[in-house]
Amino acid sequence: MYNKKTQLRKEADRLAWVATIKIRGIDCEICGEPMEDVHHCYRKGMYPHLRYDLDNLSILCRECHDKPDRTILNLLEEKRGKEWRKRLDEKAKEDIHKRITISWYEDNIKKLKHIMKDSNKTDIIEEIIDIQPFSTNKLFQGKRYRTKEYKQYSDGALMIMPKLKMIKGQVAIFFRFYCRSNRSDLDNFYKSALDLITKKGWIQDDSYVYFLQGQKILVKTKEEQRIEVKIIKM
Ligand SMILES: [Zn+2]
Repeated sequence: MYNKKTQLRKEADRLAWVATIKIRGIDCEICGEPMEDVHHCYRKGMYPHLRYDLDNLSILCRECHDKPDRTILNLLEEKRGKEWRKRLDEKAKEDIHKRITISWYEDNIKKLKHIMKDSNKTDIIEEIIDIQPFSTNKLFQGKRYRTKEYKQYSDGALMIMPKLKMIKGQVAIFFRFYCRSNRSDLDNFYKSALDLITKKGWIQDDSYVYFLQGQKILVKTKEEQRIEVKIIKM
């Protein structure tokens, strides 16, 4: 059970994440490589009031993300201009003691929703598939056809996955695979997961996947195993 603030924070985090991608795209703003995550120029721990300020959010690849905060700001200034930098630096100074209240979260959610009002709601799917990631090694076992074990897995998964409105056309997909074994290679999880979301009709076809990114996260118990997926229309 989450308390109200946590719930609102999660909702606002999700909206800010999607809004940033909608506005900035999925390539690193500095070097153009595929994104790793949405980055807070002024860190959200120290500058919580800038957590949902789209001026403060940027799309970065892993390598650029590892650069010092100051360097990132300077590199982004080259892309976004001096006006942006001045505005953001001012905002960072101004509201530093602002209290983060429930109504502050609610206001931000309203603002973010307003920003995204042009984008159709069906443009984004964000789901947790409550089943362990399935390694492709087990999927084919060197044969041309899918194994019986996979059939069972896939039937079970398809049963618990909700029926959603299909996102048509080109998509970007982000996976998080929560698994117990360190031995499974990340790339072995993609095939079965893509197979599931295609079969369930969340996307048209594998061939419409134009951006694919995944992360493997180790968990201790069986119950924690799951697949998190975000699908965004490009
Ligand atoms: Zn980069």
